[in-house]
Amino acid sequence: MHKKLFIPGPVEIAPEILQAMATPMIGHRMPEYALLHGRVTSGLKQVMATRNRVFLATSSAFGVMEGAIRNLVKGRCVNFCNGAFSDKWHDVTLRCGKEADAVKVPWGAPITPELVERTLATGRYDSFTLIHNETSTGVMSPLPEIMAVAGRFPGIISIVDTVSSMSALPIPLDELGIDVCIFGVQKAFALPPGLAVFSASERALERAKTVEGRGYYFDFLEFSANDAKDNTPSTPCISLIYALDTQLQRFFSEGLEQRWARHRELAAYVAEWVRDRGFDFFVAEPYRSVTLTCVANNRGVNLKKLKGELGELGYAFDDGYGKLKGETFRIAHMGDLLLDELKEFISVIDRLLTTGE
Ligand SMILES: *Cc1c(COP(=O)(O)O)cnc(C)c1O
Repeated sequence: MHKKLFIPGPVEIAPEILQAMATPMIGHRMPEYALLHGRVTSGLKQVMATRNRVFLATSSAFGVMEGAIRNLVKGRCVNFCNGAFSDKWHDVTLRCGKEADAVKVPWGAPITPELVERTLATGRYDSFTLIHNETSTGVMSPLPEIMAVAGRFPGIISIVDTVSSMSALPIPLDELGIDVCIFGVQKAFALPPGLAVFSASERALERAKTVEGRGYYFDFLEFSANDAKDNTPSTPCISLIYALDTQLQRFFSEGLEQRWARHRELAAYVAEWVRDRGFDFFVAEPYRSVTLTCVANNRGVNLKKLKGELGELGYAFDDGYGKLKGETFRIAHMGDLLLDELKEFISVIDRLLTTGE
C-alpha cells in the first residue's frame, strides 16, 4: 500500500507528473532538449521573479549547497544556523576546506535582521548562507528584512536555500537582491527528488571566476557556459526536467497567487487545529512556516505509536526531526496538497488521538 506523504519531503506527487516522467527519452545534445531547457528555465525565472541566470543541476539540494560554497567563498563565510539543515551547511562549508563561522540561534528561533546586520558589520565575511525555511523546525526567517540589511554590504555574496519555500509564497529574488538561491524540487515544488535549481547573479558569477578549486560537477562557470546554449555541463535527469516542465504549467494554470493563497489557507487550518486540541506551537509567530507546522508534543502523545497507526491506515507521518523526535511532530502542508486532503489526514489523527487516550 502506498502511504500518502504528509512528511516534509519528499511530498506527494500528482499523477500527471508521474506520467510526464515516462516521456520517451531524448539526447541532451539534441535540439529537443534545448527547447525543453529553455522553456523550463524561463518558467523558473517567472516563479523566482528574477532576470538572473537559472540553472538545473542533477543532484539533491546539498549538491548545489556544497557547490555554492566551492564557487563563491573566497575568504571567510558565515553560516547562519537555526536548525538541522543550516547546521549541516556549516559542516559542509568546513568540509570544503573553507574558512567559516557558524552563528547559531536555538532551534525554533528565526535568524533576525539584527543578527545578520551585527554579523556582517564585523567586516570578516565575503559570503553568507541562510536557510529561508528551516524544515527541521518549521521556522521561516524574515527574508525581506534580512535581505534589506544584506543589501548594505555589497561585497558580501548572499546564498539562500529555499528548498521548502520556493513557490509557496512570493520570493522575488531580484527585488530582494539574492545573489544565489538554491532549492531541490522534492519539497515545495512537489516533484520526485533528484533535481536542484539555482540562480546566480552577475556578481556571483564574477566572484566564481576569481575562486580556485571550484571542481567540475558544480562549477558555476560550466553551468553558465552551457546554459547559454540551453544545456547543462553533464547529462541531466531529463525525466525530471520533463516533470518540472509539466509542473510549471500546472503552477501557471493554478496561478501563482492562488498557490500562495492555498498555502496560507492550509497553514491557517493546521494552526487552528493545534490551538483547538490544546497543543503548543514549537515556533512563535510571526516565524511559523507557511509550508509545515512543527507542533510541540506538550500533551505527551506516544508519537511512535501514532506514526505506526497512521502508517497502517496509509498515511506517512513525521514524529520530529533528529533531536526533536518525540518532542515535536511536523505536519507538512506544501506542494500540491489540497485543503480537503489535509482535513482528511487531520481527522484521522483526531480519531486516533481520541481512541488512544
Ligand atoms: C530537505 C532540505 C535540504 C536538503 O535537501 P536534499 O535534497 O536532501 O539535499 C536542504 N535544505 C532544506 C531547507 C531542506 O528542507
